[in-house]
Amino acid sequence: MKKAIYPGSFDPLTFGHLDIIRRAADIFDDITVGVLDNHTKTPLFSIEERVNILKEATKDMPNVKVESFSGLLVEYAKNNGYHVSVRGLRAITDFEYELQIAQTNKMLSGGELDTMFLTSDVEFSYLSSSGVKEIASFGGDISHCVPEFVAKLVYEKYNVK
Ligand code: ADP
Repeated sequence: MKKAIYPGSFDPLTFGHLDIIRRAADIFDDITVGVLDNHTKTPLFSIEERVNILKEATKDMPNVKVESFSGLLVEYAKNNGYHVSVRGLRAITDFEYELQIAQTNKMLSGGELDTMFLTSDVEFSYLSSSGVKEIASFGGDISHCVPEFVAKLVYEKYNVK
């Protein structure tokens, strides 16, 4: 059985992330979305909130699981039997950063963890969680960026709309 992990912060989940999840779920038998609990960043949504949002958004995808993890991805992958990490690539600027992470993970895992890149659909290539937060903080329209129920939760955080 082919399984993979799609790790990220997902703060908040966007249509770009969802597109990668859907496509990865078509390729692998099982996909786990690994929501990173990163204590060095202050996220807009708590780890529990981000996990719940992802669970709700993927409830129609039977081979998608959502878990949180903290610490090194390679440790989580080793302890849970993942050999493939899925990441999304939007533009050349993502490439340098992602290549470095992929090679670091390969080294740290003793060659056990590979990274598979899915290129962003052009429709979502401009989308980022940080962009969504910036637009929403000024009360701008994020309906083309995130599912409706996520947009509501984001506006609530900023006390707008
Ligand atoms: P990070 O782990 O760097 O905090 P995110 O949670 O924002 O990143 O994203 C997780 C993964 O999803 C990364 O590989 C990122 O490149 C990818 N991603 C983010 N936005 C999009 C998008 N619009 N289209 C495709 N992939 C994306």
